[in-house]
Amino acid sequence: MLRDLLTVLAVAAGLAACGAPEPAPAPEPEPAAPEVPARTADPFQRGLTEADFPRVQELAPGVYSYEQLRAAGEELFTTVSMFVVTDEGVLVADGQGNFEETARMVEEIGKITDQPITHVVVCSDHGDHTAGNGAFPEGVEYIVHENSVAAMERMHERIPEIPIPETVISDRLDLTLGGRAIEILFLGRAHTGGDLVVHLPEESVLFLTEAYLHRVYPAMRSAYPTEWVAMLRRAQEIGAQVNIPGHGFVDSPEVLRDELQVAIEAIATVIAESTRLHEMGLTPEEADEQADFGDLETWSLRESQRGMALRRVYMELNGELP
Ligand SMILES: [Zn+2]
Repeated sequence: MLRDLLTVLAVAAGLAACGAPEPAPAPEPEPAAPEVPARTADPFQRGLTEADFPRVQELAPGVYSYEQLRAAGEELFTTVSMFVVTDEGVLVADGQGNFEETARMVEEIGKITDQPITHVVVCSDHGDHTAGNGAFPEGVEYIVHENSVAAMERMHERIPEIPIPETVISDRLDLTLGGRAIEILFLGRAHTGGDLVVHLPEESVLFLTEAYLHRVYPAMRSAYPTEWVAMLRRAQEIGAQVNIPGHGFVDSPEVLRDELQVAIEAIATVIAESTRLHEMGLTPEEADEQADFGDLETWSLRESQRGMALRRVYMELNGELP
C-alpha cells in the first residue's frame, strides 16, 4: 500500500519535473440517478423498444402484471393483463388481443409457475383483451359481467375457439384460491358497460382493466362517460396501494395512484368540453373542429379516439346511449 503510494508520488513528481501537465483527476462516477419514466403511454418516449416486451412485474407476492405492446396505426402502446399465482391454480384478469399474444402470455406464466391457469376474468369484453381467449387451456372457468355476455357471444360467433363465459355475475364474486382472497367486482358501467375489476384485499392490489387508461386518450366507443367517472371514484375509494391500468405502463404504485386521478380528470375534461360545445348548439362535426381538450391532445390514440369520445358524450347528452 505504502509502496503503491510512493510510486504514485514518484510518477507525479516525475511528470511535474518534465513540465507535463498534471493529469486531471478522474471524475468520481456519479451514483446513477434513479430513472423516472416520462408520463406517457408511448414506449419510444420512454426509451423502450419492442425487445423490452412482454414485460412481467411481480407487484406483490404471486401477483404479476403483464404488459405487451400493441399497434394502433403507427402508434404502439401496451395492453396490460394481471395474473395471480396460488397453490390452487392461476387466475388471469384479461387476455391479450389475439391468439398468438395470449399464447405468449400463457407461456410466460408457465415460466413462473407449474400451476395451471384455472380462472380467466373477462374484465373488458373488447377484442384487444378477449380475442386471444382461445389460447387459454381447456377447462378454464371464465367469469364475465352480465352486461358483457352479448359481446362475448358475438366474439364466439366470429372466432369459435373463444368460449362464451359461463360464470356470469351482476355485482360481485368472492373467490378463495389457494387461501388467497380474490374479489371480482362490478363498480358500475364505465369503459364497456360490463367492466369488472379484480381486487386483492390482502395484497392491496386493484386491477382496473381499461376503465383505467394511463395516458391513453379516453376511448369511449362503448363507454358511459358520466358513469365512468363515478366508477373510477368508487375504485379510488377502495384505496388500494397498487392500481393497475388496462393500457399504459405499470409504473410505481405512487405514480399509478397519482395517474388514476389524472385519468379521471381526462374523462371529465372530455365530458366538460364536449358538453360546452353541445350547449353552443354545434353539430358533432363543428364541435370536433373547435374542441380543445388541452393536455389530452398529446396523449396516445388521440387521432383515433378524440372524435369518437366527443360523439359519445353527445349521445349521452341526447339520451341516446344504449
Ligand atoms: Zn383495450
